[in-house]
Amino acid sequence: MRILVVEDEKRLADALTQIMREQKYTVDAVYDGEDGYQYALTGDYDAVVLDVMLPKRDGYEVVRALRREKIATPVLMLTARDELESKIAGLDCGADDYMTKPFAPEELTARIRALTRRQGEVLLEELSFEDTALELGTGDLRCGQKRVHLSFKEFEVMRLLMLSQNAIVPKEQLIVKVWGPESDAEDNNVEAYISFLRKKLFFIGSKITIQTVRKLGYRLGTEQDA
Ligand code: CA
Repeated sequence: MRILVVEDEKRLADALTQIMREQKYTVDAVYDGEDGYQYALTGDYDAVVLDVMLPKRDGYEVVRALRREKIATPVLMLTARDELESKIAGLDCGADDYMTKPFAPEELTARIRALTRRQGEVLLEELSFEDTALELGTGDLRCGQKRVHLSFKEFEVMRLLMLSQNAIVPKEQLIVKVWGPESDAEDNNVEAYISFLRKKLFFIGSKITIQTVRKLGYRLGTEQDA
């Protein structure tokens, strides 16, 4: 099994190499995105461990370029940020999995094993509530056979609601997280997006509803308890 490590923090690259050599993998390490791309382009690897923040070309760009060249080698992205946003960005651009730094060596080897097992498949993770799923990779909202694509802000609002499941999400929190703390978005903007989402939920025949909790915010529920 041959693994390519692309990581500009030399000490981390050495540690990764060491961990994987102990698992009897053959490992090559390179230290910037351009070399990472060129090495991975050979198609000689069973998996690529790819840092996001890299000199010359960042990790997202490298994966995108590889997928354009039809290189399907599984890619595990390393990100310093524990943010779902970077996970979505990574999966969106064609990575197969992602891992947040710092991580335990066992986690790395477990993920490499999983990745090389499911080679060729694309992993799309999703959030779900009742009969409806939000696909993080495609940005689609799905219920049974029906699906609808969400705009970026609709997606963000739905994601926050789904992450909270039945709990109330305060309106201010939606504004800060979706529009940003500096934005001048107002309640009306949120109302508008909630109403778009309600239409889309209705369109796909979902039984979930977005309930308005007066003066507090919104939460997901089902028709029965609406
Ligand atoms: Ca880096």
